[in-house]
Amino acid sequence: MIRIENVSKHYGAFQVLTDCSTTVSKGEVVVVCGPSGSGKSTLIKTVNGLEPIQSGRIFVDGTQVNDPKTNQSKLRSRVGMVFQHFELFPHLTITENLTLAQIHVLGRAKDEATAKGLALLDRVGLKAHAHKRPGQLSGGQQQRVAIARALCMDPVVMLFDEPTSALDPEMVGEVLDVMTELAQEGMTMMCVTHEMGFARRVADRVVFMDAGRIVEDRSKSDFFDRPESERAQQFLARIL
Ligand code: ADP
Ligand code: MG
Repeated sequence: MIRIENVSKHYGAFQVLTDCSTTVSKGEVVVVCGPSGSGKSTLIKTVNGLEPIQSGRIFVDGTQVNDPKTNQSKLRSRVGMVFQHFELFPHLTITENLTLAQIHVLGRAKDEATAKGLALLDRVGLKAHAHKRPGQLSGGQQQRVAIARALCMDPVVMLFDEPTSALDPEMVGEVLDVMTELAQEGMTMMCVTHEMGFARRVADRVVFMDAGRIVEDRSKSDFFDRPESERAQQFLARIL
């Protein structure tokens, strides 16, 4: 569903990604981890075209992302993305947040968009909050709304970039629970996260990055039990 082939990217003389290749199959959950500054956010943003690349190729469901002929807004509507900060529109209600892109990007009728939004809000356990504004919800609730909003677009893959790292500790679990359910329902997911408990429970594979390179790309049991590189061993020793 996602194919990243020999992707390199630099900012001037600074090489942020070097020859990165990996794939995510349909229904697979891949966790991307590694030290701060290793290029995880940059890599995941290349998948929906938010970060241009200088060489290599990226495909999502057969469509080449970095092809000038590709319709970027159409592609982006099929790739759900949830960031560290919830990025809900603060002046809109939760329902309006959930329906805006459905109406303006997908051209759905308001009734249809509202029904879809409320069904997904129910799925993340927040139906009673539809009329509120984001500021009236906790951080964990806002992040669950952000996930529901991404799902409203019927994405073929979901990308997560440290979705729990800005949350108070007591709210991390509720967001990971929603992500776990999504994974169990068969969603194809690429998740940057430091939550190694989540990775151990939910991931199929782990991609470990260091200094812009993919250093390990292994099944989760191989990664956790027998990390090959010294960098991954050091990383795991520090966080486990
Ligand atoms: P991670 O998510 O693993 O912490 P990032 O992908 O955010 O890493 O960043 C990787 C490296 O690229 C960092 O050293 C960062 O400072 C650098 N970087 C990110 N964005 C830019 C930019 N727009 N211009 C220059 N350097 C950048
Ligand atoms: Mg990052």
